[in-house]
Amino acid sequence: PYTGPSAAEILQKRKEFLSPSMFTFFNDPLNVVDGRMQYLYDDKGRRYLDAFGGIATVCCGHCHPDVVEAIVKQTQRLQHSTILYLNSAVADFAEALASKLPGDLKVVFFTNSGTEANELALMMARLYTGCQDVISVRNAYHGNAAGTMGATAQSNWKFNVTQSGVHHAMNPDPYRGLFGADGEMYAKDVQDIIQFGTSGHVAAFICEAIQGVGGIIELAPGYLSSVYDIVKKAGGLFIADEVQAGFARTGSHFWGFESHGVIPDIVTMAKGIGNGIPLGAVVTTPEIASVLTRRSYFNTFGGNPVCTSAGHAVLKVIEKEKLQENAHVVGTHLKTRLTALMEKYELIGDVRGRGLMLGVELVKDREKKIPAKDEVFHVMDQMKEMGVLVGKGGFYGNVFRITPPLCFTKDDADFLVDVMDCVMAKM
Ligand code: PMP
Repeated sequence: PYTGPSAAEILQKRKEFLSPSMFTFFNDPLNVVDGRMQYLYDDKGRRYLDAFGGIATVCCGHCHPDVVEAIVKQTQRLQHSTILYLNSAVADFAEALASKLPGDLKVVFFTNSGTEANELALMMARLYTGCQDVISVRNAYHGNAAGTMGATAQSNWKFNVTQSGVHHAMNPDPYRGLFGADGEMYAKDVQDIIQFGTSGHVAAFICEAIQGVGGIIELAPGYLSSVYDIVKKAGGLFIADEVQAGFARTGSHFWGFESHGVIPDIVTMAKGIGNGIPLGAVVTTPEIASVLTRRSYFNTFGGNPVCTSAGHAVLKVIEKEKLQENAHVVGTHLKTRLTALMEKYELIGDVRGRGLMLGVELVKDREKKIPAKDEVFHVMDQMKEMGVLVGKGGFYGNVFRITPPLCFTKDDADFLVDVMDCVMAKM
């Protein structure tokens, strides 16, 4: 049994000693003390089905034994050297990771986070093309450092960004976007930005395959392949931000971009890659990677043997336990059941996503699509009381984000929907 400080004591310390900008979910904040696969346990030993997975970070399951074993073994052997010496844990994982990517994408740079990965990707694109201009999509989240905060396109997450060289294109959002599901029309906006907002040349276009923080927004069909051609013609590189959609989460494919039929020039990843261990990566072609030989590029902790051992174990678990297939099967079932709830509740305006990256948007009025933010909070809170944790997001905070560990079962999916149904029925 847990004998540590109570939730109230932790909350008090947090208020006194931690960032004042941190927030907690739920009326009665949850003190989680243990995690095991798709479950979290609170200080009273109560079990919760975790359908948020540390914001799509826990990929194989909380404290998956194979990943824990890899971390412990490597920790006992060697935790850190420097990249100036050789170590097989790092090289072996780079090789295994490169084998998961198409085309000539085979040079790996390790980082500690998604932000660092995107910062590096943007820098390489700018060096390679000799251009500064970058295009990202409105409502995107790409990180919280100087460059990536510029690429992030939601005021909620931006502080004092000054000149960032980033242009924000219309969000190809089939639900709320001006052009509905017409991918070509949104792609034309990228063309216009290049034509009227730049010299005609750009460094890069950066995009998530499914917006995570933005509220599980799938890109309008045809958008990404059209933009890909437009950006190529302007001399730019395509950076795929796979921090949330990568690593088997979308089920049908290992990478989110694959369902759009394009091959990026640079792929960035984090979150799921380490199953909770701080690890990120950038993968690109040898030609683009060579720009970093102009100077020295160094990252003290990026790709240390402990983190790369964890990453390698994650890849093996995904394969061994067929987690991609599971994400596809269970995710399809879950989406079907959530979609059926729409017929019961006017409150549900949209159900979307792929595999185990699903979103449910609540609206006060289906015609006007007025965001039902308080209702999302209420349902989340009540679902937690019944033992199910879902996340929320979207610019208006009115979208449930369902991104569980990929070991989620059909029974888990049914339980989640039954609980959501039960809470909504009482409203
Ligand atoms: N890209 C995407 C798509 C993300 O969702 C996030 C984190 N929410 C990041 C980048 C930044 O990753 P990190 O928080 O590890 O820096």
